Amino acid sequence: MNKKKVIIIGAGPAGLTAAYELSKTGKYDITVLEADNQVGGISKTVNHQGNLIDIGGHRFFSKSQKVLNWWAKFLPILDTTHHLEIGYHSKTQNLDEILRKNSEGAMLVRKRKSRIYFNKKLFEYPLKLNPQLLLNLGILKSYRIVKGIIYARIFPIKNERNLEDFFINNFGKELYHTFFKDYTEKVWGKPCTDLSSEWGRQRIKSLKIRDLVKHSAQKILIPRKYQNASARTLIEKFLYPAKGPGMLWEKVAAACMDSGVVFLFQAKLSKLHIEDGLVTKVSYQTSQNPENVLDCDAVFSTMPIKNLIHTIQDEVPIEVAKIAQELEYRDFLIVGLELKTLKIEQEKGKLIKDNWLYIQDGGVKVGRLQIFNNWSPFMAPANNIWIGAEYFCQHTDELWNMSDEKIIDFALTELSTIGVLDKKQFLSGKVVRCPKAYPTYSGSYHHLNQVIDYLDTKKNLFPMGRNGLHKYNNQDHSMLTAFKAVELFERGEMSKMEIWAINSDDEYLG
Ligand SMILES: Cc1cc2nc3c(=O)[nH]c(=O)nc-3n(C[C@H](O)[C@H](O)[C@H](O)COP(=O)(O)OP(=O)(O)OC[C@H]3O[C@@H](n4cnc5c(N)ncnc54)[C@H](O)[C@@H]3O)c2cc1C
Repeated sequence: MNKKKVIIIGAGPAGLTAAYELSKTGKYDITVLEADNQVGGISKTVNHQGNLIDIGGHRFFSKSQKVLNWWAKFLPILDTTHHLEIGYHSKTQNLDEILRKNSEGAMLVRKRKSRIYFNKKLFEYPLKLNPQLLLNLGILKSYRIVKGIIYARIFPIKNERNLEDFFINNFGKELYHTFFKDYTEKVWGKPCTDLSSEWGRQRIKSLKIRDLVKHSAQKILIPRKYQNASARTLIEKFLYPAKGPGMLWEKVAAACMDSGVVFLFQAKLSKLHIEDGLVTKVSYQTSQNPENVLDCDAVFSTMPIKNLIHTIQDEVPIEVAKIAQELEYRDFLIVGLELKTLKIEQEKGKLIKDNWLYIQDGGVKVGRLQIFNNWSPFMAPANNIWIGAEYFCQHTDELWNMSDEKIIDFALTELSTIGVLDKKQFLSGKVVRCPKAYPTYSGSYHHLNQVIDYLDTKKNLFPMGRNGLHKYNNQDHSMLTAFKAVELFERGEMSKMEIWAINSDDEYLG
């Protein structure tokens, strides 16, 4: 029997989920085209001399039981929160043994800890209005913060025009300037006055002042066992593959290969050939050959919409091409740094327990600091300190275009300036650039519907994933879009609107 030929563009979470689900049916010849030389997409793990980099720190959690079951099928879940006391020499005998017995690896249950680093001090995150905060900030600053909050309550800005107004109305001017402005501007590369207040409403809904106070009071007054269990779980624990997110996706890819899925690496999709509203062939480029052609009956795409529209060999309406061209992204780069010690310590010789720190200081470009040892001790097998300095940027920025050596030195200098490390403790470093890490809701985003409608006219083309839908999707959302795409394809459904509807409340969990 002639099997239908399915092409999947991208071996990230969405592409691999679709490949696996389709391969289970045994009905299709599946080829995955991947521009990179490894699987995982943004959720890959990069290996630097045995030290592992996770691009951005990927917490695994989901409200979908289907997603949770799917993960557990590939990596058994081990609750290590009681076995693992993180310190400089972090692997306990106990956990080593557990993982050795389970040579296939595991998904660890990890405790979340992340704080704000500002002015050489650490502050709880989400911010807690407690005596520690006031002590760290000093009497004058604390007075100004409280005054700012009261003022904002009595005299709120009537029409919130932008994110700055939103922050000030919710937190007061002083708290906004101290803890929100610089970090937000680093992440988005724009002044808060140029970001919409709608953005704040969607993303910061859980950070209202009254919630900060309530949460802090609850922690102090209510015994732990009576606190809201699901909220606690979401905030304080997450799942994490022992060797970073890529470990899961490598396992999924291996299972796909076992069922006959063909993976072509360093193979970049360049053209979708259209006949009568259907994709009939795809072209892709490799280093050896600028044009290879494959016939197809269906295409599942996770590549950025901006690029996808350009590959369509059809009369794309000028307006649609323009909207796609003007979609905007935020790029991201991470600098892995291996060190003998870190300057900020929990106590003498003990590494702080945070998975990551938000770097609030405005004088430096670094936005967050991942402490990979605390995600999983298996991320840093040599037992040195293994951190990741994160920079939110544009690929046109000077920083992005500097040599790797210069970027490493830049990161070391910034981190030593703000008291995180001593340059003399540096052992080795690695730079990973991640273009189009964040599809942003700016530029032509508000006209995206026209692109969606146009793509929907290509009956056998299934967009899915994060950049594939230009939506701020986490791994679980990306997977849910792939489940839906497979379901619609199997049902012979022509409209893809059910895929676009997933995660439409734009829930932000990062
Ligand atoms: C900083 C950061 C932190 C994050 N933190 C979390 C988190 O804590 N938890 C969480 O669940 N999610 C998190 N995410 C989101 C997560 O990374 C994404 O949801 C997920 O990787 C998206 O999967 P995807 O398959 O849609 O796309 P991608 O991961 O982007 O994969 C797409 C693949 O397509 C390939 N490709 C692109 N163009 C072509 C082409 N022309 N031809 C062939 N191949 C092509 C790319 O090389 C890539 O491998 C985070 C993201 C970022 C940027």
